[in-house]
Amino acid sequence: MSVHFVPWDTSLDMLKEANRLYDEAGIFDCVEKGDLVAVKLHVGELGNPYYVQPFFVHDIVRRVKEAGGKPFLTDSTTYYRAQRNNGYDYMITALMQGFSMAPFIVADGLRGENAKLVKTKGILNEIEVAGVIAEADAMIVVSHDKGHELSGFGGAIKNLGMGCTSQAGKLRQHRAIGLEIDAEKCIGCGKCREACSMHLPEIIEGKAMNISPLCMRCPICSEACPTGAIQLTNKNNLCKALASAAYGVLSTFKKGKVSYVSFAKDITQYCDCLPNPGKVVMKDLGIFASTSPVSIDAAFLSMVDYELFNNAYNVDCMLQVHEAKSIGIDGEVKPKINKLR
Ligand code: SF4
Ligand code: SF4
Repeated sequence: MSVHFVPWDTSLDMLKEANRLYDEAGIFDCVEKGDLVAVKLHVGELGNPYYVQPFFVHDIVRRVKEAGGKPFLTDSTTYYRAQRNNGYDYMITALMQGFSMAPFIVADGLRGENAKLVKTKGILNEIEVAGVIAEADAMIVVSHDKGHELSGFGGAIKNLGMGCTSQAGKLRQHRAIGLEIDAEKCIGCGKCREACSMHLPEIIEGKAMNISPLCMRCPICSEACPTGAIQLTNKNNLCKALASAAYGVLSTFKKGKVSYVSFAKDITQYCDCLPNPGKVVMKDLGIFASTSPVSIDAAFLSMVDYELFNNAYNVDCMLQVHEAKSIGIDGEVKPKINKLR
């Protein structure tokens, strides 16, 4: 499954270039007359200026309508307690970020609990697919390529695995990671408890303890710890869990009903979930389009120095791609890239 690519070049009309790309890749071939089509995106946390620009999404919506589909925008709520933790707040955020070109239907409902539990392959046995995604006829997955502290980078596979699952599904994936607190290093300052949005670590007899089943293994408490006492372990498992969840999400669609567009522009250190995504660390590359999440992520990685992310986050970016391929998601880890210019 090949990947089509158009380089970022602002001496050209990038909207026209994107449309040439979509046609070349057959992005809208997955849409049939009357289909309810999920346009899966990430609207970005408020304060983060680096998410997919709304005019590109506006145009994708237009093309879905032209193909006879009924497009709606969608994303799932976050497990952690921030601006997009419930359906109401998510919809407000989407409007504030400029996404009003089609109905915005929160994928996992008002409280992040609308899900369909499906069997999957790989490191997870089953996964909670967001209910609205599971009911859609077709899906265009619109991703922003960038770094990610836990999985090395985030692209199409992560947009499927983490982005298309309910809060329970997100917790299931995150808990594939381990968390250890070194009692020798802990000075009992409580900074970890303060930083955690759920205040989960408890300070008992001057030492931090975290045995809560609600802990999602995010990096926040370990970053807040002044002595380096908190370590996340087995980060590779999250990469495998992303692939496993992505397989489950795709199992809710008929073959050929999902397409992918990825924007490799404003490639930041951290993900779109943060209000402060860090520096732009790579030059703007362009736009990718494919019918495979494996191929489109592999194509992006083949064109950047992803060792930068591997070294920064101590996890191999290619792992999620290899794992997705190995459990049976269509695509190539060394895809042919059809460059439009
Ligand atoms: S990893 Fe730390 S900050 Fe994140 S949810 Fe668990 S206790 Fe809270
Ligand atoms: S922040 Fe670190 S040192 Fe302070 S209580 Fe938590 S684990 Fe211990």
